[in-house]
Amino acid sequence: MSAIVAIDGPSGSGKSTAARLTAQRLGFGYLDTGAMYRGVAVACLRDLVDHDDAAAIASRTRTVVLDISTDPDDQRLFVDGVDATAAIREPRVSAWVSAVSTNAESRAELVRRQREIVADGRFVVEGRDITTVVCPEAAVRVLLVADPVRRMARRAAELGNGVDSAALHDQVIRRDRDDSRLVNFTDAAPGVTVIDSTDLTIEEVVRRIVELAREAGLA
Ligand code: C5P
Repeated sequence: MSAIVAIDGPSGSGKSTAARLTAQRLGFGYLDTGAMYRGVAVACLRDLVDHDDAAAIASRTRTVVLDISTDPDDQRLFVDGVDATAAIREPRVSAWVSAVSTNAESRAELVRRQREIVADGRFVVEGRDITTVVCPEAAVRVLLVADPVRRMARRAAELGNGVDSAALHDQVIRRDRDDSRLVNFTDAAPGVTVIDSTDLTIEEVVRRIVELAREAGLA
């Protein structure tokens, strides 16, 4: 069993913040796998790859150089040598990324790279398929869920003033629907602990995950 804490969940479940804080508390590395999918989307947008051209998206996934930091205190992503840390959070990237995540060849390539990054290390790994595909042997496996209304409210707070409800719906509900075409992240696989963050603070979520890590002998 590897020294991995695997956390899956839909957008707005609070998993990125919870995963990063858990990594800080445990002294583990942190891998945000969603950032890698977003990095491929940035590369495709730069190259004007057609959203419907699955072969071109798969090919770009194989060639793109993704240099991702695993330091929970300093999150950075370079895409083909260019800093894309801010660009990957742009709404146009959030709107594009499902073309990457619904591409089976792109997924296989990114899963391979993610396993390579966390091999032999101590990591909190966060995404949609970590408990089931990337690290099914992880010592701690968590599915973080939350009520959709709360998830949209959290995403609205992240995006700041002026975000309209159609954009919010696109970034949370539509994206989850598209994302779940190839990956099931709404039902917990056997052995996965479900944490419902609807009425919990981030601190409470982190404490529960750290407790699970202690029980598993990781801390
Ligand atoms: O978590 P985040 O919203 O940054 O993820 C961006 C996108 O990457 C998700 O909408 C999903 O399409 C994809 N993703 C995925 N599998 C993962 C992580 C992210 O399909 N393990």
